[in-house]
Amino acid sequence: MRRIRKGAQPRELAAWRRRIRPRGFIPPWGQLTNPPSGAMRDALATEQRQLCCYCTGSIVAGNFHIEHFCPRAADRTFTYIWFNLLASCQGGDPDIVGPRRHCGAAKDNWFVVGVTVDPRRAGVEALFRFPLSGKIFPAKHLDANRYRAVDTTITKLNLNAPSLVSRRAAILSRANMDVVSLDRATWRRRYLEEQDGQLQEFWPALNYNFELHWATLLTLGPPTA
Ligand SMILES: [Zn+2]
Repeated sequence: MRRIRKGAQPRELAAWRRRIRPRGFIPPWGQLTNPPSGAMRDALATEQRQLCCYCTGSIVAGNFHIEHFCPRAADRTFTYIWFNLLASCQGGDPDIVGPRRHCGAAKDNWFVVGVTVDPRRAGVEALFRFPLSGKIFPAKHLDANRYRAVDTTITKLNLNAPSLVSRRAAILSRANMDVVSLDRATWRRRYLEEQDGQLQEFWPALNYNFELHWATLLTLGPPTA
């Protein structure tokens, strides 16, 4: 996960909510129309730099759904509260079902206060570690309770789904090879810096390994390419 800083709700959502009658009524989620849904999707993808709120896979092609961090089934009063809305990838191909789905599709109505890791939390990136194998684990420095919570979240969201592990491993391998052929500035531009409002998918895994060992290697010697 990468920390998501929630901004103001889109104008279109505010206007739509103002028109709801009777006041205080919460329309079923399926009744959300466009507008405001298009503006909401655009704003969510922009806020998240085109990365899924949970796995940080790319959602640039619009292949995501609007996710309720606190599920509607747990508290429907949060249904249209912007702070509760995130963009989650679809969790694998539509024909993949069961344990191979990940992110919002796997999380479904699972939500435990203090256990479900909140991608809006400051420092959320430091709760995880990302070896070059492509797998994701809780960070080693966490106390026992926090470690268990992060581990449970990884399991419930299926963040070690084979498709995610192989995609993470592929980009980590490419970035690792580029450490020896690119200068530091070029490498950072390619893997860590925002370009046209987008971040490289699996940014937290790239940044983790950059800080852990690549940063030092990239400063050594002149660029060779
Ligand atoms: Zn995802």
